[in-house]
Amino acid sequence: MILLDEPMRKHTTFGVGGPADVFVVPDSVDEAVATVRACRKLGVPYFVLGKGSNLLVSDEGFRGVIVALEKLNGIEVVGATIECEAGASLGSVAERACELGLCGFEFAGGIPGTVGGACFMNAGAYDGCMADVLRSVDVIDADGEVRTIDADDLALGYRTSRIRTDGLVVLRARIELAPGDSQEIRAKMRELNHRRKEKQPLEYRSAGSTFKRPEGHFAGKLIMDAGLKGYAVGGACVSTKHAGFVVNTGGATATDVRSVISHVQDEVERQFGVRLEPEVRFLGW
Ligand SMILES: Cc1cc2nc3c(=O)[nH]c(=O)nc-3n(C[C@H](O)[C@H](O)[C@H](O)COP(=O)(O)OP(=O)(O)OC[C@H]3O[C@@H](n4cnc5c(N)ncnc54)[C@H](O)[C@@H]3O)c2cc1C
Repeated sequence: MILLDEPMRKHTTFGVGGPADVFVVPDSVDEAVATVRACRKLGVPYFVLGKGSNLLVSDEGFRGVIVALEKLNGIEVVGATIECEAGASLGSVAERACELGLCGFEFAGGIPGTVGGACFMNAGAYDGCMADVLRSVDVIDADGEVRTIDADDLALGYRTSRIRTDGLVVLRARIELAPGDSQEIRAKMRELNHRRKEKQPLEYRSAGSTFKRPEGHFAGKLIMDAGLKGYAVGGACVSTKHAGFVVNTGGATATDVRSVISHVQDEVERQFGVRLEPEVRFLGW
């Protein structure tokens, strides 16, 4: 499927963002590879999209091609290894793992992204992260070749990876889990989701934690101590429930969100000498 001038607000959890010139939804891994290769050959800017759950697209949108991997959602299980396509949601992989009595992926069940986005970000929560369970990925490398890379060679760090620094495109991932008890896994997933609901402003659209955790501090605490809870520009504000989240309370523009982020960075730096680094990715600015 190919769409023109597709509003990115429809494809981001923030619910903001202007049009992408071209929005391609490959039906298969081969189509995804062909699309990325064509963009590279023609020198057209492209951007690989998962669920848009860590993304702030500008109101002007993106001049180029969005390659949305939402249809690459196949999941296969061999023993304790789950092989999934990059567009599979973390929730569906966690659900499958739970059904099959495979433990170690409970941390990811409540993260609203795809496997590809999670590898790129080395997503994590509640003492777990992709680096703990990822065995290998199939990627399109810088030369346009498809190859398999072991997780040990991906330099997975706090919200970063070689996928990010080397501009690799994840096509498939192999996640290695351990045999466990379905009921215990289910109970753990429920408990983690309960903790999320209690602490996070899930009633509003956001991209999760807006900022990375600065060394020796917690972003949310610094923002709260700076007196910025509830600070708003237009329809965007610092959540009053969890200061680490900038939320869209309704009708926010991307510029509103960016303004709140910039003000929080400046104010926290002015008061505490710590420059917060966004965890959220910016596109089209
Ligand atoms: C309510 C809420 C809670 C959240 N909680 C957490 C949490 O607990 N822990 C956490 O780590 N994150 C959390 N997040 C953030 C987000 O869900 C993760 O960062 C997730 O991994 C992003 O995945 P995505 O598919 O949505 O990626 P996108 O937002 O679509 O993309 C993010 C980046 O990954 C790149 N990317 C996506 N797919 C691929 C691919 N196949 N190959 C190469 N690059 C790719 C994109 O180009 C982009 O640069 C939360 C977000 C929300 C809205």
